[in-house]
Amino acid sequence: MTVVVIGAGLSGLSAARTLQRSGQQVLVLEQASEIGGRVQTLDIDGYRVDKGFQVLLTAYQEAAEVWPEHEMDLFPFAAGAVIHGQEVKQLFDPLRHPSKVWQSLGSKLFTMRDIKSLLSLRLGLQGIRGLPEDASAEQAPEFLARLGFSERFTNAFFRPFLGGVFLDESLSVPADAVRFVLAMFARGEAALPAQGMSALPAHLSQGLSIRCNCTVADVEPRKVIVDGGEVIDAQAIIDTRPPASTAWQSTQMMAFASPVPQDTTPVLHLANLHEQPDAPILHACAPSLVAPDYAPQGKAVLYATLRTGRPSAPVEEVRQTLSNWFDLPKDHIEHLTTVEVRQALPESPCRASQDARDQGLYRSGDWTTHASIEGALRSGRIAAEAVIQDLEAKSDPETA
Ligand SMILES: Cc1cc2nc3c(=O)[nH]c(=O)nc-3n(C[C@H](O)[C@H](O)[C@H](O)COP(=O)(O)OP(=O)(O)OC[C@H]3O[C@@H](n4cnc5c(N)ncnc54)[C@H](O)[C@@H]3O)c2cc1C
Repeated sequence: MTVVVIGAGLSGLSAARTLQRSGQQVLVLEQASEIGGRVQTLDIDGYRVDKGFQVLLTAYQEAAEVWPEHEMDLFPFAAGAVIHGQEVKQLFDPLRHPSKVWQSLGSKLFTMRDIKSLLSLRLGLQGIRGLPEDASAEQAPEFLARLGFSERFTNAFFRPFLGGVFLDESLSVPADAVRFVLAMFARGEAALPAQGMSALPAHLSQGLSIRCNCTVADVEPRKVIVDGGEVIDAQAIIDTRPPASTAWQSTQMMAFASPVPQDTTPVLHLANLHEQPDAPILHACAPSLVAPDYAPQGKAVLYATLRTGRPSAPVEEVRQTLSNWFDLPKDHIEHLTTVEVRQALPESPCRASQDARDQGLYRSGDWTTHASIEGALRSGRIAAEAVIQDLEAKSDPETA
């Protein structure tokens, strides 16, 4: 009999891959017409538009195993940011871009205390390789204040940057999640696959048996009932669907076609929310400066992630901001689409492992570990390992 996995997002695919590698028969059921769940890429006239700006952090441990660098065409962002306020300022990681140290220090973004806090934060991140086993109760704002960061620096850098990562510029996230994400940025690179983020689930799904357009209506012990009434018998069931009560962060991103900007540094651009508290966007980038296949030759694609927790800015205002930030004539920036993801990041505990067994089922999904690519992959693998362990125990006459 088959193990059934519900959902062909990264978690379900990671579970299915683990099961298949251990010799189990596995079938993945996916309600959508495409695999990938929350990792999708549109092709609009040759411009690649990820459904919400996201990046793969190469320091993720599970991800490095699933997508070995030699098999993936990954393109990294520069380790830094250009920050747009009354003036344009730059902040680059001194260890990776030593030639930019003076530009960063001369940018007057921070006080001497902020520099000390940055150094102690950077040192504190050294030992973090993955998600914590147990999350502490501290929240991000208290954590940043405890480290001694000024409000000016927090609003100029952390709020637009981490607000974009967590899709919540109030930074109401556990300090552990911030430490984990910053450690991953510090240890490795933020990268895009040549073909867009959907290349990640596409690679992971190779060789797996997946039925798309197949909505699971109900689950009973060892039975999955799909819309239309078909019943699929299962040896075990891994369900990656989050509970209906899950709280979600949403996001809106606008994508534009444009000429190639003069400055081709593949870097993230942030709104200095200290100097421009009403900026229409949190951040922007030109992914085609990172991975050239994101736009037709001689063109660029620009992404702008809108502010969170406030009404969306009109396209015209965003276009004007991109024109200023990328030094491009506004008339040459053409709106391609606006992507809205209402259920983007679930409230999640930020922990390395979950108890997958739940009333005869196995649960996985980023909502059980951490709302990230790493959390999703990890939760899927852990649930699959629990299934394998239980099936082996059943077939072993000593333990059965
Ligand atoms: C805009 C955005 C930006 C992000 N940025 C980053 C980032 O930069 N870095 C990072 O690490 N992570 C990022 N993430 C998070 C990351 O993409 C997710 O954590 C991860 O993709 C979740 O995978 P999952 O398999 O747990 O869930 P999902 O991808 O949601 O998969 C669940 C699947 O189950 C299917 N399903 C649901 N109900 C049924 C049913 N009844 N029958 C059959 N199938 C069903 C769904 O269609 C879906 O395909 C971002 C996410 C978004 C949306």
